This record gives sequence, structure tokens and C-alpha cells, in this order.
Amino acid sequence: MQFACHCGQTPDRILEIGFTSNRHMVVHFWCAACSRVLFISQSLDECAQLCPRLDTETETQSASDDARFLQSLGIAVS
Ligand SMILES: [Zn+2]
Repeated sequence: MQFACHCGQTPDRILEIGFTSNRHMVVHFWCAACSRVLFISQSLDECAQLCPRLDTETETQSASDDARFLQSLGIAVS
């Protein structure tokens, strides 16, 4: 989700996140420039489409690096 006010500012903080009865995720956020609360709503299908794909090669490399680091501390990794 892209959080931006109509004035172009990014929000200072997210106030709350929730779901509607028809399975839409709703995010309320605060724009300090306008001093007002805004919200964005998207269906879970839209959220899934916008979610970045898992980078399996990077994940595998990170897991391998983590295992080596833990083993260097004497922690057994299965
Ligand atoms: Zn604003």
C-alpha cells in the first residue's frame, strides 16, 4: 500500500489497521501537514497482488549465512 496524503506528504504515523466485514484491509493514518486523518482500503486480493514476490535465492543465501554465524557461536543448526 502506498501511504500518501492528497497534499503529497507521507504520513507521520499509522493510527490503526483493521478489517471490514467484507474482508477489506483498512489503514488509518495521520497527515501532520494537513492535521487530518486519512484512510486507505484494499481487498485482500489486491494486497496479495501488490505483495512483492519472495526472493528465494536471497532467502536461501541469508539462511545459509545465518547458519554459519550461529555455528561460529557454537549453536547447532539443523
Ligand atoms: Zn496532507
